[in-house]
Amino acid sequence: MKEPFLSLAGKMKFFSKAKEPYKNLRKHFNAQAVGYPATLTGIELRLLREIFTVMEAEAALVLTYRFETFESLYPRAQEKGLSADAFRKLLESMEKKGGIFVKHQDGEIYYALHPFAIGMFEMQISRLSPSFFMDSHNYMLQGFAMEYLTTEVPQMRVIPVNKSLKPMQNVATYDQIREIVESTKDKIGVNRCICKTGRDLINDPCKVTDRREVCIGFRDFYDTYSRQGWGRAVSKEEALEILDQNEKDGLLLIGSTMQEPQFVCSCCACCCGIMEMLKFMPRPADFSASNFYAKLEPATCNGCGKCISRCQMEAISFKSVEKKKMATAIDPKRCIGCGLCVASCKTGAISLRKKEIEFIPPKDHVELYETIMQKKKGLAGKIGMMTKAMMGMKV
Ligand code: SF4
Ligand code: SF4
Ligand code: SF4
Repeated sequence: MKEPFLSLAGKMKFFSKAKEPYKNLRKHFNAQAVGYPATLTGIELRLLREIFTVMEAEAALVLTYRFETFESLYPRAQEKGLSADAFRKLLESMEKKGGIFVKHQDGEIYYALHPFAIGMFEMQISRLSPSFFMDSHNYMLQGFAMEYLTTEVPQMRVIPVNKSLKPMQNVATYDQIREIVESTKDKIGVNRCICKTGRDLINDPCKVTDRREVCIGFRDFYDTYSRQGWGRAVSKEEALEILDQNEKDGLLLIGSTMQEPQFVCSCCACCCGIMEMLKFMPRPADFSASNFYAKLEPATCNGCGKCISRCQMEAISFKSVEKKKMATAIDPKRCIGCGLCVASCKTGAISLRKKEIEFIPPKDHVELYETIMQKKKGLAGKIGMMTKAMMGMKV
């Protein structure tokens, strides 16, 4: 991108401060609600270089995880020697590349930084290259996993698939995917799953589905994706058809942790970095913020084995009897309450039960990230939590 024009004095002031733009930006991202930790390999700086030019990296330092208008942000940009026109152009170019999150509300435009995931990574869908995908995947494992898993309230939570819920259960709207779609007053969009698209680029395609348009966005996510041409609008009926097909294919639903989620991803542990992290943990249930768990009645099992192959957390143990796989138990520490096993069990041997203590998600985007910020741990707290989790202790 051509850098916006600055006066000579502005350029001198600007570049004297921008000696280490990506390191500064990395630190700035790390101070937000969901951080952006450094790694020994510096992979996180390479990712930033892919998304931000030097001037964009400097301009992004003006933003935080809180939404602000141009008028509120500009005085800080001016201190960096940026003209109003230059700053506006930088905001536009950063939005186009998914580097920042922009929302249009009541005639105003608001700008904020968003986390690496869920945020910057997902919004690379139109620019994704094999190397960026591999770097992102490796960064998840080398650094970002700890950040993602140690927020007191997870950014994403498991929502049970539709067929697994019985009508008589007292289930809140935010736990019923049909209700979420049917009751929304907002527009709905669908977009390609970046993890599955990335897997295609490295010739390791998804083993659960050959469909790619599986992720549903609402409100600000829908707006951004449609403004940038990263997805397409769908009716409620089409959104429900997509979700039904996702369920049939065996994808589990994870939505943003809000009472009216901004997006609902349809994930598999073979492609999705987040699911891969969860599966790796000894107690995935501690990180799912799900209100459900699956209960098995082994006496009713006919040994079809479907639930075992569908469970992405390997929570179901079984014994082989002749050529059958008889389900014997479900490990509550591994069960994330996705309901895929329930939806596939023809004998009714598995049912979804509600947990005694209900998790009530934050109301919206602002409440979610403010809660995460208030409860943000220091490095020692994060390492302590991860150590306990890796040792199989409850966190
Ligand atoms: S989180 Fe899941 S559905 Fe969303 S982009 Fe990643 S794999 Fe796809
Ligand atoms: S799907 Fe049902 S019947 Fe089949 S193995 Fe699982 S519990 Fe048994
Ligand atoms: S046992 Fe597995 S498939 Fe069934 S609800 Fe739990 S995590 Fe999902």
